[in-house]
Amino acid sequence: MQLYSTNNKNNTVDLKEAVLKSLAVDNGLYMPADIPRLPQAFLDNLDHFSFVEIAFQVSKNLFGETIDNWDLWQICENAINFEAPVVPVYDNISSLELWHGPSLAFKDFGARYMAQLMSYFTKDSNDPLTILVATSGDTGGAVAAGFHNTPGIEVIILYPSGRVSPLQEKQLTTLGGNISACEILGSFDDCQAIVKTAFLDDDLNSKYNLSSANSINIARLIPQSFYYFEAMKQLDSSQQNVFCIPSGNFGNLTAGLLAKKMGLNISKFIAATNANKVVPEYLSTGTYNPQPSIATLSNAMDVGAPSNFVRIQELYQSNHNAITSDIVGYHYSDDSTTTEMADIYTQTKYVADPHGAVGFLAAKEYLKSASSDTHVTVLETAHPAKFLDTVESALDQNIDIPQRLEKLSDKQKTATGLSNRYEDFKGYLLGRV
Ligand SMILES: *Cc1c(COP(=O)(O)O)cnc(C)c1O
Repeated sequence: MQLYSTNNKNNTVDLKEAVLKSLAVDNGLYMPADIPRLPQAFLDNLDHFSFVEIAFQVSKNLFGETIDNWDLWQICENAINFEAPVVPVYDNISSLELWHGPSLAFKDFGARYMAQLMSYFTKDSNDPLTILVATSGDTGGAVAAGFHNTPGIEVIILYPSGRVSPLQEKQLTTLGGNISACEILGSFDDCQAIVKTAFLDDDLNSKYNLSSANSINIARLIPQSFYYFEAMKQLDSSQQNVFCIPSGNFGNLTAGLLAKKMGLNISKFIAATNANKVVPEYLSTGTYNPQPSIATLSNAMDVGAPSNFVRIQELYQSNHNAITSDIVGYHYSDDSTTTEMADIYTQTKYVADPHGAVGFLAAKEYLKSASSDTHVTVLETAHPAKFLDTVESALDQNIDIPQRLEKLSDKQKTATGLSNRYEDFKGYLLGRV
């Protein structure tokens, strides 16, 4: 498999380099040079395949002979080890629940698959890979869980002290083993700056084989296309199937476009955002105008300059007409989001999280002018208990907390406290050799 940089089509690399480097040297994002259609026999018979088999077939379709079948099967089996059920909520709206993994959000799919691929590509090297991640909360939890106990890989997570939720902190600091946490007395930007400096530091690079678990890594995007197939397997294929994606960096939506390009019969994509509405505005005006991000209740979507926008442009050769024939966009305020959580609960007893609620709003708006055989599947990107206070106050009642979350609160935090000075972090890292 070859991948090219969105900044220069002639700059191609193999899958190993794209996965281990995340970003091209020219700062472009990697895209598959070839996105073949899957065999019709597979597309017509999705219900004959398990989720792992779907993951295997889709991976194989993109990777070709890059990874032999047995190893690829192991990668898929280790990564895709929880379900993605489609749950009917209204007559014509379902929820694709992507929160059945260890960190209760869809990012588990990408993090686990990336961990498996990185481990595969470094298995013959004597040098373990050391992954540095700066997190403002959510991504760190998925990465920590995804890489936990992965052979040949060590993960060091930097998070801003006092600025992640207690639950998120537990997810980052209680796994142990190959996962270490540094609690930085500073902001998320300080954490990010430390990681950036570390990658450029010769002393560290001579002792460590450093890598990142960046959200733009192609190994996080590819597995997010698997669950569109898994959803279509569960849906009635005789209706118009539309997917509605609560979006921030637009990784999920881009993965859906890949699935469609590989042959999946999806009629339309709905891009649903909070007040960070640069993509819905681009869709309606044709002008892309990135903005500083605005804080909202659906905070994992607070992105003012979505990193995957360039990949969407790439898939459509920047043709605005072609893009708007496949994607429609809507955006909503926090007030509407709160009301929607309550409405969904009152009408159906389904508990949506704030991100999912933005999706339900958009699904309902779209259906007002859609044909009667249209069915919208909303990607429910996180479990509502991850946003407990917001959800419970919207519903004015307590909600169930999954056991795997509850168990976390008994676990002991282990983190190394450091100042926000780069030299402190460097000293810590060198002291570990
Ligand atoms: C990351 C995240 C999103 C945004 O997903 P993108 O692929 O970046 O658009 C939405 N909801 C939740 C809960 C998330 O964690």
